[in-house]
Amino acid sequence: MTRVPLLAGNWKMHCTRAEATALASRLAERVGAVATREVLIAPPYTALHAVAEAIAGSKILLAAQSVHWEPKGAFTGEVSVAMLRDAGCTHVIIGHSERRQYFAETDETVRKRTAAALAGGLTPIVCVGETLQQREAGQTTALVTAQVNGALAGLDEKAVGRLVLAYEPVWAIGTGKTATPAQAEEVHALIRQRIRALASAAVADAVRILYGGSVKPDNVDSLMAEPDIDGALVGGASLEVDGFARIVNYEESSR
Ligand code: PEP
Repeated sequence: MTRVPLLAGNWKMHCTRAEATALASRLAERVGAVATREVLIAPPYTALHAVAEAIAGSKILLAAQSVHWEPKGAFTGEVSVAMLRDAGCTHVIIGHSERRQYFAETDETVRKRTAAALAGGLTPIVCVGETLQQREAGQTTALVTAQVNGALAGLDEKAVGRLVLAYEPVWAIGTGKTATPAQAEEVHALIRQRIRALASAAVADAVRILYGGSVKPDNVDSLMAEPDIDGALVGGASLEVDGFARIVNYEESSR
């Protein structure tokens, strides 16, 4: 099964509209025509419209960093699936560890956001991953299993087939510490096994699982060489054009 690699940049709370437009335009010049890999960027909400215009005509995909599950209403500070589609998004990141850690995101809210995104025609990129404390306590398998079960609960096989998952060990995000390719591969294989059990072997073979956690130009090649790592979700390094372009153009080995 060939899975098209997906290299995704999560801009987090960075970039004014002008800064985002400049960065997106430069990326469109550098990696906007890449055909064998998918390239995606996730600017903050306020820059989505402007970035959509800046990347129009390129192959770069646009994502938001979260979405609410209700279609409209009294939910101050939230945005709906329809609003994101209107802004030009095709994808949305859901359950990022920073949302879980600082904004009370739970497996249940991840499930609701994921279901709403799918129902409204957005592709969710669902993030899971353990903290250092959980890893050191030997809880990685149980925790990641529970997060995947929680996010996918109630989805049918077809819906699961439309998801992207991202394994992001919390201890590796923004810390400069990367999981070794072997550590990442072990969890990616576990997640694929879960998808096989929850959906089917065919869906498990097709679903892409990204790795995130201090992915940089100098470690992307070895991570991408692992059989179950199908792309990267990149934070810090996605804000720098040369570095992100190098990540997009990672060197393929015998995978
Ligand atoms: C992320 O934001 O998803 C991430 C992995 O950040 P960083 O690459 O900076 O560790």
